[in-house]
Amino acid sequence: MVTKFDRELDQRAANYQPLTPLHFLNRAEDVYPHRIAIIHGDRSYTWKEYAGRCSKLAGALIDHGIERGDTVAILAPNTPAMLEAQFGVPMAGAVLNCINIRLDAAAVGFILRHSETRLLFVDQQFAEVARAAIAVLGEPITVVDITDPEVAGSRPVGRIEYESFLAGAPDTPDIRLPLSEWDAIALNYTSGTTGNPKGVVYHHRGAYLNALGQLVNAELSGDVPVYLWTLPLFHCNGWCYAWALAAVGATQICLRKVSGAAIYDAIANHDVTHFCCAPTVLSFLIESVPPSWVPPARPIRVLSGGASPPPAVFRRLIELGFRVQHVYGMTEMHGVATICQSQEAWQALPEEEHLVHLTRQGVRTVVMNEMMVADPNTLSPVSRDGSSMGEILLRGNLAMKGYFKNPSATEEAFAGGWYHTGDLAVVHADGYIEIKDRSKDIIISGGENISSVEVEDVLYEHPAVAGAAVVAVPDPRWGEVPCAIVELKADMAGDINASEIISFCRARLPGFKAPQHVIFDSLARTATGKLQKFKLRESALQHLVGNGAIGPDSGTTE
Ligand code: ADP
Repeated sequence: MVTKFDRELDQRAANYQPLTPLHFLNRAEDVYPHRIAIIHGDRSYTWKEYAGRCSKLAGALIDHGIERGDTVAILAPNTPAMLEAQFGVPMAGAVLNCINIRLDAAAVGFILRHSETRLLFVDQQFAEVARAAIAVLGEPITVVDITDPEVAGSRPVGRIEYESFLAGAPDTPDIRLPLSEWDAIALNYTSGTTGNPKGVVYHHRGAYLNALGQLVNAELSGDVPVYLWTLPLFHCNGWCYAWALAAVGATQICLRKVSGAAIYDAIANHDVTHFCCAPTVLSFLIESVPPSWVPPARPIRVLSGGASPPPAVFRRLIELGFRVQHVYGMTEMHGVATICQSQEAWQALPEEEHLVHLTRQGVRTVVMNEMMVADPNTLSPVSRDGSSMGEILLRGNLAMKGYFKNPSATEEAFAGGWYHTGDLAVVHADGYIEIKDRSKDIIISGGENISSVEVEDVLYEHPAVAGAAVVAVPDPRWGEVPCAIVELKADMAGDINASEIISFCRARLPGFKAPQHVIFDSLARTATGKLQKFKLRESALQHLVGNGAIGPDSGTTE
């Protein structure tokens, strides 16, 4: 509707420009030119140098014939080149496709073909996978090799090396800013917890909003934040942090390989203030506390998401001096959709109850417009009773454009005007949500729902358990029963048996929720540390059929 406030009050260049996070870089260069932007081993770049390199990268891409809307991919861990790609590729008008470094050649080949990648940057560490993927691809593709003194030399995949590629660019390239905030900025293939990689298309508008939202979520303003890159940049562009960190001129510490020891080293050497990670990484931290560790005077802020955090893991991290905040999201929402926003009143709660509150998925972030837990068909919300389960539905400006070249999946995901997460949750009286399961992972035993998350939380309380996953396996009597796959702490392996684990759970859960089977094994995870339940279900079934615990035609004997 046109009102009197629209007359002679038009949009124009002076008051309306497409929202994009790319402007943050140019501002950081102006405002913090001498502040260190990136540290990688012995190498470091100031914000002026980082911005200059991103602009060279854009120029080199344009020089090599990259057009607006072309796909440019990168296969690299969290290194300076990966951070430069976050800005340099979209500054050439291209769409950045960060490929998961844990994928095999067939999967990388699939992504290169499906995404119609025109140019690929390859970190030397992944040269062999890239070479094999390109062979599968069968089509020529321009490859730029990224070398790094941290990696032993390997045979280059392409004909150009990254530094010469940058050096060949014009000094002041013509940067291509988006023509519309709806233009694509990135393409991220889902990590495959459910088996099917889909190409999620990000827009400049969502990337801009989520980057600013992260400043609020992680309280990144104030002193110079020192951010440790533990979350892979190939996952949701690191939840949009590369863009967010430019907005505050933070110092970023690269990490080629994430381990507990590497994180503690970085904390000791660089005074890290913030990092983000999946709960698995929190477990690494618990397992490798240095003997000399003293909880820091100013707690290190950790945003943890990607999977439900077992309360026992949170408890230990807090004792160690980390201020952990729980977030929930998915690739389709630019990474983060909810945050477990702490409330003053929680401070007065008994410790255990406080912890239970902290490990809920929480409430929508400041940039996530709407969320409800509802029946996915009727869209009627569940009551706030902490027990009625529904699907988490989201909508607003963080939602992806859609799945690349997959209109039916896009329509299905956005059915009824909401994004369907596939996650089942309850809503507590205070409006905070708590995930019980993925709809595909819930265990239905004798008609009763069993949340695998609830059983996993109990398993994590056992002192010998380092990791746990609970999946459904067929059962002739109950339809399905829970089966626990348990990773024991290294010094406990061999000391604990299945019946001990089952009794431990029976003492803490209603009998039907306690696992009927226990398998001691390592846990299949995605590159972001998420349990691959479909793989675990398959291998649990094979294992139980193999040892005769269940019948070969899915459970006829016990
Ligand atoms: P996929 O794993 O399907 O490839 P994502 O990596 O985007 O894709 O994962 C998103 C999913 O991860 C969510 O739908 C949800 O199931 C799970 N997830 C993310 N954060 C949390 C969290 N904090 N608690 C529980 N589950 C989470």
